[in-house]
Amino acid sequence: MSEEDDLISFMYACPFGLIELDASGVIGMINPHAMKHLLPLAGAQGVENFFTATEKYAPELRNFADGFAEPDGTICDGHRIVVDLGEKTREGRPQVLACSLVKRGPNQLIATLNDISAQVAQEHRMRQADTWFSALMDEINDHALLTIDGNGMMLSANSSFVRQTGYAAEEVIGQPADTIFSQADSGEQAPFSIADQLSLATRDGWYLSEGWESRANGERYWCQRLLVGRAEQGDEDNHTFSMVLRDVPEPGEKINDLIELLTRDYLTGATNRMQFQKILKRERTRYLTRRQPLSLIILDLDNFKMLNDMHGHPAGDAVLKQVARIGADCTPENAVFARLGGEEFALLVPDCPASAVIDLAETLRREIAGLQIAVPSGLINVTASLGCAEMSETDGSTDNLIAIADRRLYEAKHAGRNRVAPLAA
Ligand code: GH3
Ligand code: MG
Ligand code: MG
Repeated sequence: MSEEDDLISFMYACPFGLIELDASGVIGMINPHAMKHLLPLAGAQGVENFFTATEKYAPELRNFADGFAEPDGTICDGHRIVVDLGEKTREGRPQVLACSLVKRGPNQLIATLNDISAQVAQEHRMRQADTWFSALMDEINDHALLTIDGNGMMLSANSSFVRQTGYAAEEVIGQPADTIFSQADSGEQAPFSIADQLSLATRDGWYLSEGWESRANGERYWCQRLLVGRAEQGDEDNHTFSMVLRDVPEPGEKINDLIELLTRDYLTGATNRMQFQKILKRERTRYLTRRQPLSLIILDLDNFKMLNDMHGHPAGDAVLKQVARIGADCTPENAVFARLGGEEFALLVPDCPASAVIDLAETLRREIAGLQIAVPSGLINVTASLGCAEMSETDGSTDNLIAIADRRLYEAKHAGRNRVAPLAA
């Protein structure tokens, strides 16, 4: 085989995109992987010139190359290109490519292209886990906390851990976590080793489990554990983990309580915003595959600031709870009622004809307007404005669905409040 044949077979076998180009971007050689990534980016521009092909999503690449004065060397390394190809993206997430550019001589550059969407999605889940974790910290007063490294070694333990388990911090630091955990899970789940739990937490951002544990003195207690992966800044491969241990007095108070904490709004008990976003994504996927209707109603209380000002914040809270109760009562079985924030709520309704969704919004409006809420200053009333939207009216994105419902809500406010702005039926 000649050297050139060697090079060509290498380029074909190479598991990432490899492109050879000249200083102006004209492509000499390109392997199939690179072609696969570059074609959708380039669109009508064609793939003769690398910089023209990437112009739309990463115009900076040409500037990087033009501004690189050295005779050779790395121009950029793993530069991220976020590619939003609209409907064609998987799971609604934009594709992310990592691009490296190396200058080999005055008129030769090598570019590599690699799809890192999965890694980026993982980073996103990590950040989400961090947010959940902090929220959880606010809710649990006496939380025993351990940090664990990627090999399952315990790195630190807080004073609540010492109080809860009876182990001194010095006894556990530097020891494998499975020396103090029984690894026995509740009946339904197969027991996972600490290593398995770490990899599940790495994949999903968190892992929840519960079971009997022993304190240092041998006494047994029912323990709920939340394991959260925390990527160190700038070191995405090297995870440390935090484990929150909760001593649950009655095994009856099961893991569902913890799941409730993570998914429910603390004031009204409605589904919280983060959980709603998750469900919305899931329902969108179902919509795209099954093409059954998917509707959204957004509800915002009218003049709520004034209500707070006149009757006080606790009265406002009482109103929010009553509104959430009505929301829950009106929610069909497969629908989800959520508090998006402040005095704004949403009802996501799958598999329901548009006219029935408008009726549902109208029922909500009427029930809320009929509320009489007893507060220390007397009986108060409240009204709501609602906007409805249907997935078939959108470009298929949930952002668009929310934007349309929001716009109609605004129209309802504008038209005088206490009304429903329907879909264009
Ligand atoms: P509009 O009819 O245009 O919606 O007017 P509004 O007064 O309802 O809207 P605005 O957004 O100006 O005010 C919302 C108020 O909701 C402001 C904030 O103090 C109050 N609020 C947000 N969250 C809570 C809460 O948890 N409890 C109480 N009591 N009030 C809240
Ligand atoms: Mg309002
Ligand atoms: Mg509002």
